[in-house]
Amino acid sequence: MAAQNEVWTLAEIRDGKLHSVSYELLSWGRSLADSLKAPLVSVVLGDASDLPSLFEYGADKVYHVSAPELKHYLVDSQVSVLKEMVEKYEPQIFISSATTQGRSTMPVLYAKLGVGLTADCTGLSIQDGSLLQTRPAIGGNVMADIMTPLRRPQMCTVRPKSKRPLPRDARRKGEIVGYTPQKSSLASLLTFLGFEPESRVGLPIQDAEVIVAGGKGMKGTKNFALLDELAGLLGGSVGASRSAVDLGWAPASSQVGLSGKSVTPRLYLACGISGAVQHLAGMSGAETVLAINTDAEAPIFGVADLGVVGSVLEILPRLIGDLKKSSKGVSK
Ligand SMILES: Cc1cc2nc3c(=O)[nH]c(=O)nc-3n(C[C@H](O)[C@H](O)[C@H](O)COP(=O)(O)OP(=O)(O)OC[C@H]3O[C@@H](n4cnc5c(N)ncnc54)[C@H](O)[C@@H]3O)c2cc1C
Repeated sequence: MAAQNEVWTLAEIRDGKLHSVSYELLSWGRSLADSLKAPLVSVVLGDASDLPSLFEYGADKVYHVSAPELKHYLVDSQVSVLKEMVEKYEPQIFISSATTQGRSTMPVLYAKLGVGLTADCTGLSIQDGSLLQTRPAIGGNVMADIMTPLRRPQMCTVRPKSKRPLPRDARRKGEIVGYTPQKSSLASLLTFLGFEPESRVGLPIQDAEVIVAGGKGMKGTKNFALLDELAGLLGGSVGASRSAVDLGWAPASSQVGLSGKSVTPRLYLACGISGAVQHLAGMSGAETVLAINTDAEAPIFGVADLGVVGSVLEILPRLIGDLKKSSKGVSK
């Protein structure tokens, strides 16, 4: 198969449907494919009922592998199938999301292919025909530009929610090309035992429209119950700074920031969070930021649309009380 210099993105499936990161990746890939005048391809391993939606969000073509062995994500079979496909089609760029799946697949795949991988990119562009990958380095204090001009494909991951999907265009159509891998590639040494979702208030933070996030200023695990209550009233989810997670006040899955998750809520309520650069790296995509902090000089106020100088331990109970009163008023 002659190289077509395609730009690839790796779609992900949850519960038989495409996961939203599949569309976010097409948003990244579309501008690269346009700059290179190359086809944009979404690679789908497993069955999803909504494959044609990939065209509506920017894909020109879909490579689809349907096999019962791919029903559940197993890293070794996924890597073997992708390696086979990369060797056959020779894409010039391959982008995945830095989800748990992407972070498991891509490092094994790039090592087996003997190419390069830049993880957690925050910017991608084309320079002199090659992929310019930008990512924070040295604890987020510098932005590093990385290129791998001598190897193909140029591989990278981008943070989930680091770009919004393109507007849906129902008129866009494309071609779904089936691919049948070798039986040996589908074999796995792993056995899928089951999936247990985490118990939490609201949606996973990366999907939440409202996030009530707490930091070290919350003073203890007990006070995180205030954040749970407020998030429940606002129909949101609870986030946390790394300090709060390190102290065991919140689960690692709720960490916002450079070594946590990137979030793009409509409202981000930062409670007792100083606003370190590594925290801001994860929440700079929030539409509106409201911060409560006792220190008027805290850096979080530099990015806040609305700042309240005061103690969360006094302000949050009052806010919760007022919201409860006003919701009673509304239901009367
Ligand atoms: C490589 C690297 C990666 C990192 N990744 C992340 C990351 O992903 N996410 C992240 O968050 N951090 C990350 N960090 C850590 C980051 O540098 C900060 O240490 C951390 O964000 C600080 O958390 P904090 O704001 O909760 O705590 P602090 O910085 O200690 O701030 C606590 C704030 O609470 C305020 N406060 C105190 N009492 C009250 C009160 N009663 N009411 C209201 N406010 C009060 C204080 O004025 C202060 O501003 C990373 C660091 C490194 C080096």
